[in-house]
Amino acid sequence: MSIHYPARERLANLPTPLQPLHKITERFSRPYGGPNIWVKRDDLTESAMSGNKLRKLEFIIAEAKAQGCNTLITCGGEQSNHCRATALAAARTGLKSHLILRQNAGGATSDTPDGNLLVDYLAGAKVSLYPLKEYVNQLPQLFGEWASYYLKRGDRALCIPTGGSDGLGIWGYILGAEELLADCRDNGFEPDRLICASGSGGTQAGLTLGCQMLGAQTRVTGYAVCDSEDYFVSKIRDDIRLWAEAYSQVFPFDAEQIHVSDKYIGPGYGVAGEEIFQTISLVAQLEGILLDPVYTGKAFYGLLKDIEQGLYADCRHVVFVHTGGHFGVFPQRTGFSAAWGQQ
Ligand SMILES: *Cc1c(COP(=O)(O)O)cnc(C)c1O
Repeated sequence: MSIHYPARERLANLPTPLQPLHKITERFSRPYGGPNIWVKRDDLTESAMSGNKLRKLEFIIAEAKAQGCNTLITCGGEQSNHCRATALAAARTGLKSHLILRQNAGGATSDTPDGNLLVDYLAGAKVSLYPLKEYVNQLPQLFGEWASYYLKRGDRALCIPTGGSDGLGIWGYILGAEELLADCRDNGFEPDRLICASGSGGTQAGLTLGCQMLGAQTRVTGYAVCDSEDYFVSKIRDDIRLWAEAYSQVFPFDAEQIHVSDKYIGPGYGVAGEEIFQTISLVAQLEGILLDPVYTGKAFYGLLKDIEQGLYADCRHVVFVHTGGHFGVFPQRTGFSAAWGQQ
């Protein structure tokens, strides 16, 4: 079917490359009778704005402009890639941005901002940091308070949910699925599986819905980096329901096709074990590709483990969607100290 997309502000450099991971495939898939592993380079959607969130923001910013908004309010962890991309995309499109950030469980934020948070400040975002408990208990109120703060000043703000994942942001990866399936066709195959890291579920929701709308036999598996399988299945179903309502879509989505693995979260969101730091170093050394310790490192590690255990034995081509996260490497620099030079 041909898909009718809503308005889109062009920010990402598309299409991103689709590349085979020859060395990883030889070493970590062939010995187990596993598939060819490819990577869709959505870490290259842009330079500083890089990552999966930019695809969602293209539709979100077009909607903000259609609604006459001059400000974007969004939220996330202190090292949120989504907030960093939003801050830069707002600057680029002449909007203001306000970030509601959750401080790390450890408490106070360092006086010297690092990684994504540093870029947020550089991009001119207004940053409000909240202790974990206040953030978790009061997020809807915080959005409400800041939105009315702007309204009183004669501004108009669009509130963007965590990760830009809702019935609007989902368009980014419906389009992403269309692009990816075309890339694969150009390379002479239809992918058996798409793999992504899932944090707020929007990327997986868009890929799953997009593949179904386009009639592909491809199965999408999300590797959770927080929350349970049940959480993601219902979050993704909800986002797709909101999408269908908001855009009067009658497409019969099959929720049985939501596949989530929550086996590789490790100690918790944003906290990685030694195996993740080693995987990141390994992929950098073998393929020249940089994964991150919060999202893509965990998902890629999970993929390799599951290949080893034969879970992908029926697949010929698997595409890992590299969703970005480079700036998240640097604040975790101490975690890597044992990782390099070991392969
Ligand atoms: C946000 C993010 C994800 C998860 O995407 P969701 O759509 O929130 O599930 C994966 N990887 C990176 C690098 C991200 O920043």
